[in-house]
Amino acid sequence: MNDEQLLRYSRHIMLPEIDYEGQQRLNESRVLIVGLGGLGSPVALYLAAAGVGELVLADFDQVDLSNLQRQIAHDMASVGQDKVTSAAARIRAINPDIKIRQITEKLTRDNLAAEMAQIDLVCDCSDNFELRFAVNAACMHARKPLVSGAAIRMEGQVSVFDPRQPNSPCYRCLYREEGHEALRCSDTGVLAPLVGMIGSLQAAEAIKVLVGFGEPLVGRLALFDLKRTEFRTIRFHRDADCPVCQTRVD
Ligand SMILES: [Zn+2]
Repeated sequence: MNDEQLLRYSRHIMLPEIDYEGQQRLNESRVLIVGLGGLGSPVALYLAAAGVGELVLADFDQVDLSNLQRQIAHDMASVGQDKVTSAAARIRAINPDIKIRQITEKLTRDNLAAEMAQIDLVCDCSDNFELRFAVNAACMHARKPLVSGAAIRMEGQVSVFDPRQPNSPCYRCLYREEGHEALRCSDTGVLAPLVGMIGSLQAAEAIKVLVGFGEPLVGRLALFDLKRTEFRTIRFHRDADCPVCQTRVD
């Protein structure tokens, strides 16, 4: 790290849990962010500010005026632009040291598998169940930790799936693939700061996993009820019948 970087990251380096070594680990880390909307915005901005060395931004959508109510990586000037282009510009303005890769094609099982070799961790910030299951399967098979977040109306949840930990559960252990009504903010509404809270929690969990401190939400689901301002954390286990975990190598 040069003098400018030492100054930029000084408030991290002061923390004994991070220190110089932890900051260096962040600087060398590569994170794939799936979805640059309400959750992906704070995840991308906080990980960039925190000094995660390479961010791979994946989203095939363009910025719409109705996104600006909550998707804080974008602004009026980016309406109509690809979300990844808009988010990349914001990231560069915050921290020009961050290497950025942009993916605008739809993520499929095939290109996800190829992507896994080039990243250390995935933040799932998408609003699409099919994609969530595909991202989970790719992470579990490639042994890459996955920080998953969801927010709808006035409720949100976060969990961490880390296939490097023996017997740890995955997203598919928690949710069945069939019979899901794909609830999306675009159909049901969502309170603006809720996505900021859930996304910030995802960014914090990602930093914990990358640096290696504290107790990430592995085998635990954090549920946030904004109306009551209540956090609950429930434990869950691996599903013996989970088709993804059955093919995992622990
Ligand atoms: Zn599983």
